[in-house]
Amino acid sequence: MREFSDGAIEVIRKNLHGWFMRNKRCFPWRKRRTTYRVWVAEIMLQQTRTDQAQPYFERFMRAFPSLKKLAEASQQDVLKQWEGLGYYGRARKLHQAAQIIRATPGGRFPTEYEKILALPGVGPYTAAAIASLAMNLPHAVVDGNVIRVLSRLCMVEERLDTATGKKIFQHLADQLLDRNNPGLHNESMMELGALCCLPRRPLCESCPLNTCCEAYRNHGVYDYPKRNPRAKVPHIQVGAGVLKDGHGRILIAQRREGDMLGGLWEFPGGKREQGETIRECIRRELMEELGVQTDIQDHLITIHHAYSHFTMELHAYCGRIVSGKPRPLECADLAWGGPNDLMAYPMSKADDRIRQHLRQHE
Ligand code: SF4
Repeated sequence: MREFSDGAIEVIRKNLHGWFMRNKRCFPWRKRRTTYRVWVAEIMLQQTRTDQAQPYFERFMRAFPSLKKLAEASQQDVLKQWEGLGYYGRARKLHQAAQIIRATPGGRFPTEYEKILALPGVGPYTAAAIASLAMNLPHAVVDGNVIRVLSRLCMVEERLDTATGKKIFQHLADQLLDRNNPGLHNESMMELGALCCLPRRPLCESCPLNTCCEAYRNHGVYDYPKRNPRAKVPHIQVGAGVLKDGHGRILIAQRREGDMLGGLWEFPGGKREQGETIRECIRRELMEELGVQTDIQDHLITIHHAYSHFTMELHAYCGRIVSGKPRPLECADLAWGGPNDLMAYPMSKADDRIRQHLRQHE
């Protein structure tokens, strides 16, 4: 297994920490640092960029300033504050974890790595980040930024998605970790990856680690980290019905817990099957989901949206129920409301765009 020499470790730590103190960015979660704030930030940052997460973090902290307030909130309120941030399973698990913590004797956030790791929504990276940043416990973080830095520093040939790759990166990160300052050290590594050791144009000339970097010395920085060839992302077509009643109210459906976007609300519909037109798809979906016959009329809007594992074209059509009373057959709940009333319900970005369109054209 690849080892750093003692001399190299000393130089890397010293240069890295000095660089971080001069260059670190100012984030709301770096101010008034508490375990609760670190935890919420780390969950938000799992799949969201720092610039996108900042306004959400501040809004979330205003709504739920403490672990107690979060545990006492309804899931719908938590999802509403998370609305637009995506990967809603994170919000549901954060809420669930807050309730679990409050139900334990003392009701306080755990202070041991294994117990932090056992919380819903917390994997090895997040547990190490919380343990080191909030409690100064000696656990090295290994995220995408850290992997990029390590893979270039040591010219690591293994990919992270292999068992050997995972072991190598964790071993290298553990070796470099400054056990006297684990929080500072982890943040420095992540910040270097985010600001200096960039994926496409690393700023090697001004990098504080360039004297110790093998890839730089060997003119090979663009060859690392080693990656899998990208798989083609599937594309799907989805139809959604905007069903109005005689009072101008619109029907929305709540997605079932355990489904993708579970707990969020949407304009009912689903994926187009082969050979179907979009209108036929919406009619079929509304019969399966709500048990109603519908007349699908004008096209309202088409939205293009990319998720991490597929891209989607969502076609929304106006319509009305011609027979039957809607029942939540394949959804958790149903609600009727005018375009403004619908703003109270948490929705995904794509459905929110249909909702905004309805408000603008009311
Ligand atoms: S010298 Fe370049 S490749 Fe090496 S760690 Fe620094 S920025 Fe990354």
